[in-house]
Amino acid sequence: MSTVLNPPHASTAEYVDQVMQIVKAKNPGEPEFHQAVFEVLDCLRPAMKRHPEYQEAKMLERITEPERVVMFRVPWFDDKSQPQVNRGFRIEMSSAIGPYKGGLRFHPSVNLSILKFLAFEQVFKNSLTTLPMGGGKGGSDFDPKGKSDNEVMRFCQSFMSELQRHIGPDTDIPAGDIGVGGREIGYLFGQYKRLRNEFSGVLTGKSMDWGGSLIRPEATGYGSVYFAVEMLKTRGETLEGKECIISGSGNVSQYTVEKCLDFGAKPITLSDSDGFIYDPEGISREKLAWVMDLKNNRRGRIKEYADKFKKAMYTPIDRKLDYNPLWNVPAQCAFPSATQNEINPKDAKNMLKNGVKLVSEGANMPSALEATKMFIDAKILYGPAKAANAGGVATSGLEMSQNSMRLSWTREEVDDRLHKIIIAIHKNCFETAEKYGQPGNLVLGANIAGFLKVANAMLEQGLV
Ligand code: NDP
Repeated sequence: MSTVLNPPHASTAEYVDQVMQIVKAKNPGEPEFHQAVFEVLDCLRPAMKRHPEYQEAKMLERITEPERVVMFRVPWFDDKSQPQVNRGFRIEMSSAIGPYKGGLRFHPSVNLSILKFLAFEQVFKNSLTTLPMGGGKGGSDFDPKGKSDNEVMRFCQSFMSELQRHIGPDTDIPAGDIGVGGREIGYLFGQYKRLRNEFSGVLTGKSMDWGGSLIRPEATGYGSVYFAVEMLKTRGETLEGKECIISGSGNVSQYTVEKCLDFGAKPITLSDSDGFIYDPEGISREKLAWVMDLKNNRRGRIKEYADKFKKAMYTPIDRKLDYNPLWNVPAQCAFPSATQNEINPKDAKNMLKNGVKLVSEGANMPSALEATKMFIDAKILYGPAKAANAGGVATSGLEMSQNSMRLSWTREEVDDRLHKIIIAIHKNCFETAEKYGQPGNLVLGANIAGFLKVANAMLEQGLV
């Protein structure tokens, strides 16, 4: 394996390229992690040039190495009394500016690469929120889909039996993500409390009756739309009357639809891992309430939307296609809100051809690297995930504050704080992009602004 040139002898470009190669060599078989690291490091070039002290301190090698990775066995009994075994993870990526903070994902696709990419992204996202939170992520390859409540509970209890050793309200505070909603957070919290004999703010996304925050369920979707509104303002535009294509139909997607409606926009698509619906009449508040019941209570499939609302069309996923027809629906705004790499270069081309002028990423890393580049080159309004979806973790931070103070803020108060945080994040990304010579490039702005705070904290705390 190659090593980095001694910092004084390497140019900034050589240094960044070499760290990318080292990350690839040291983390084989982790394409998502490589992708997330490459995007960030590539954007950091102008900042590294302006701050040679980071290269001297080997800052890039340090931020790409997790502080700690925990991997563990999760055994549980299914309803037929058969033993089952899953793999659990917690990636504690950086505690430079606060305790580790980031969600848990339960999905069969979960592996080390995906969680390391999510934890890495989380470090910069949390830094942008203005709140003191480090970055982490965790989860399991457990699939809650099709499992009974009792099976989900037994899995969560086994998962937490190990995880509880590594987390705590001042150490590491997990939250939800794909496959981890209010039900799972409840079971996880119950087991933590039983084992540790403490009632503390160790998880966020809790239910309102026992320490949760108003607006936390809504926060990521609302935040992604607030971010879109801020981007539009820079061009003297609003969301009013604009058609919006949205992917997913889970937590983020549902509240993205709701906030789009608040701003007078017209949401027209939703999806799940089987296919998508297109409703040319628009997804109204009544239809959204039906979707929420379908997905959150009945745990049904989005296909049923087209059975219920006759003007809507359902298209099943065709894995033979090299593009996703959802992104081929003409619209002015897009809110990818399902999963990573759901927009490939062909999708990006279709979106640009069909009139998309704004992309606000609710999901984490939904656009492939090449698709990201196409959006930047086309100079559309492009809000990268670590900025556009930071409202979720920001409101988790507000939940932590309320837990520490042992009080609850009103809905209006939390929403107002969330809104102000998103406005501040947009301003920071926008101004940083200008300062580093690429006005309008919010990917560059978000990566540099998020990095600077973490890197400076690391310099001040010594080589730890
Ligand atoms: P949910 O589990 O509530 O919903 C996920 C949605 O995406 C479901 O409709 C699901 O369909 C779909 N989906 C998941 N995986 C795939 C896949 N491989 N292919 C196609 N569709 C898929 O999760 P969230 O809404 O919480 O999360 C969505 C995205 O937002 C994720 O990228 C997450 O990391 C990101 N995010 C979430 C935050 C939060 O606060 N919840 C905060 C910041 C980012 P199906 O039901 O068929 O699985």
